[in-house]
Amino acid sequence: MIKSVAEKYAFETGVYRPPSEGGSNSLLVRLTRNCPWNRCTFCGMYKTEKFQVRSVAEIKQDIDAMAAVRDDLAALSRRSGQGGEIGHHAAMALIEKNPELNHHQGFAMLYHWLLSGGKTVFLQDANSIIMKTDQLVAVLEYLRKTFPSLVRVTSYARSKTVMQKSLDDLKAIRRAGLDRLHVGLESGDDAVLKKIQKGATAEIHIKGGQKALAAGFQLSEYWMPGLGGKARWQDHARNTARVLSEINPHYIRSRPFRSWPGTPLAREIAEGAFEMLTPAEQLRELRLTMQELSVTGRVCFDHAGNYWKDPQGRHLFTHGYEGYQFPQEKQTVLDLIDEGLMAGNRQQTPLTHL
Ligand code: SF4
Repeated sequence: MIKSVAEKYAFETGVYRPPSEGGSNSLLVRLTRNCPWNRCTFCGMYKTEKFQVRSVAEIKQDIDAMAAVRDDLAALSRRSGQGGEIGHHAAMALIEKNPELNHHQGFAMLYHWLLSGGKTVFLQDANSIIMKTDQLVAVLEYLRKTFPSLVRVTSYARSKTVMQKSLDDLKAIRRAGLDRLHVGLESGDDAVLKKIQKGATAEIHIKGGQKALAAGFQLSEYWMPGLGGKARWQDHARNTARVLSEINPHYIRSRPFRSWPGTPLAREIAEGAFEMLTPAEQLRELRLTMQELSVTGRVCFDHAGNYWKDPQGRHLFTHGYEGYQFPQEKQTVLDLIDEGLMAGNRQQTPLTHL
């Protein structure tokens, strides 16, 4: 069957991906739509549609469409004497031939991925490993075969889903080409986890994280300074440090808590049932977390939400995706926090959610 141009280039792109995947111009390949849990009280993502697992056939069609764009760009480049190298001329020629690409949701993302060398992929949306293992393996193998330039494929994952998969299944997924899992830990304190309805306990986080590592994944764990509020900041800090130390992931990423309008937690704040920390109090909590943390991975502040400033008015921490190597740079981070506390971060107001 001959496909129309619109069909040939049609693929779906979701909204969310970790900042580090934006920094590496990752190709976004959508395996599921939205979040299968969708109950965390601080979270405003994926609220408009129901969760769906996409079929393997549908995902393969998307991969084929992306490959068709790549191949047609390379062919146009060869035809204009540029030796198949994808660049501005080929892109403009393709858009001229197919003006509907001006309105294509994912064309710019795909083009920038190709320009950057086509090295990394992020599987959307919130928990791709919830797919049946054989289906996920089929998608990964097809993706790797279609794009041999790939060096890294990553996905969000819930600790509970990692726990529910067998180690053999996780290893099969890893072998098929999924390299890194991004896990939302948020807190290691059971009372906080229960209150925010994370659907995971500290034990599930520890066992899930350790299992992901045993299967051979690189692991990124995200936590939220400030999520315990004034009532539980010390327990939140100490237990988060304890849980992260027991997991010892490759990356620990700070996402300071900010109120997201319309969420249950935002309503609790408005009603006075949850008292947010001030920026200086968040820093003090961060200091306690860092002090108690005993890991050998990298601690990163790779998001604009890490807003604290140094005495010169610059960001306190690097927002780089590789952050600080622990334990070697632990004292550096503690010294920076002390600088931030001296710089009067109490006057600064947390950003609204980006
Ligand atoms: S699991 Fe993640 S995406 Fe889903 S509701 Fe919780 S924070 Fe939001």
